[in-house]
Amino acid sequence: VRVRAGIIVTGTEVLTGRVSDRNGPWLAEQLRRLGVDVGQIVVVGDRPDDLHSALEFLATGNDLLLTSGGLGPTADDLTAEVVAQFQGRPPGLDRALEQRITAIVERLSKRFGGLRNPESTAIATRKQAMVPAGASVIEPTGTAPGLVVPVADGRSGPPVIVLPGPPWELQRMWPAAVEVPAVRAVLAGASELRQRTLRLWGVPESELAATLRRVDGELAGLELTTCLGGGELEIVSRYAPSAEAAQQRLTAAVRADFPDQLFSDGPTVDEIIRAALTDRKWTAAVAEAATGGALCARLAGPALLGGFVGHTEAALRTVIGVPADLIAGSGLVSPQMAGAMAERARTVFGADVGIGVTALSTEAESLGTVHLSVVTPDGEFARSLPGTSTAAELQRERATPLVLHLLRQALTREV
Ligand code: ATP
Ligand code: MG
Repeated sequence: VRVRAGIIVTGTEVLTGRVSDRNGPWLAEQLRRLGVDVGQIVVVGDRPDDLHSALEFLATGNDLLLTSGGLGPTADDLTAEVVAQFQGRPPGLDRALEQRITAIVERLSKRFGGLRNPESTAIATRKQAMVPAGASVIEPTGTAPGLVVPVADGRSGPPVIVLPGPPWELQRMWPAAVEVPAVRAVLAGASELRQRTLRLWGVPESELAATLRRVDGELAGLELTTCLGGGELEIVSRYAPSAEAAQQRLTAAVRADFPDQLFSDGPTVDEIIRAALTDRKWTAAVAEAATGGALCARLAGPALLGGFVGHTEAALRTVIGVPADLIAGSGLVSPQMAGAMAERARTVFGADVGIGVTALSTEAESLGTVHLSVVTPDGEFARSLPGTSTAAELQRERATPLVLHLLRQALTREV
């Protein structure tokens, strides 16, 4: 029997998509490491009724519930109250906690020239210091304390870990949350849950399906998810340690069928590139047209010396210094241009590896053919990605992983 947890992410800004949820996935991964299986992440707005029904929905079938958000001092922050009521634990003022929050708020407010309205601040602090009877307090890492609220005596149901919304605050409170006795008691029943990710590049999902069907009978104990994104195919398996041999059989079968396409059994392409650069003590620089800075963003780290994003002839000529006669000869979009951009990026930034990407960049049109060049001390590696009629934005999305995989192959000498 698995120990199971349900997560409720609160916040109208998350529900509407204005802020994308970073707490649900983060908590799910922490729980997975502790051997706890997360069955649901539910997002609710800042409405007490919706939070209440989410608690009701998740309380059956889970051994532990977690909430994020809604612990602030303002009236729309209602989580602690709703959870207290749900668990049948009436809140009461914790005076010592009130004083600790007051000290934090005073210290923070000094940066802004002191409290402007001490009275309303006191009310807000008092609200945050209301602790459900029998609950444990998790000390604030911002201003809001977290809580672990067990169900009322004589009733059965999972304890609720109540955490604040700001991801950094929540993450720093997590170690204290798992030490609370009521939580430890639940975690004591959990057993290790492993997770491995096989990553393939350049394999259609249908071909992988054939491999998986062939070995299906040998994979008992693995819970498999395959997902396609950015041209990569990921096979994520979750399993108990007793199924390790099945995971090895899966890896062997995928490697046998796709020896050149299986590029990782863990790290992402970005991580592989960064590690390869570090291993070889190489630095890199980028000159990109039509990927809009995406390459620099993906490669950012100590090995990236710099990058150039330019879409016009003038920018390429004057800033990156591509020779005018090359532009006149082969135009802005050509393999030669990508090569020259890579070469110039190396020279201008004084890097070991230069990366050049060029394509048509008029927003209204599709990008057309994308040319890529990676120049390393070992030589030039080039590819051209045929144009399609898809929108420029979509093509940009596709070109970026393509360049990253070309770069990976160049760095690990698989080209
Ligand atoms: P406080 O008000 O003391 O900061 P809180 O618990 O009330 O704490 P919220 O008001 O719910 O927190 O959220 C504060 C901010 O934290 C939000 O504006 C949002 O930017 C960020 N945040 C909240 N929940 C999430 C989430 N699930 N993922 C990413 N960011 C979030
Ligand atoms: Mg809020």
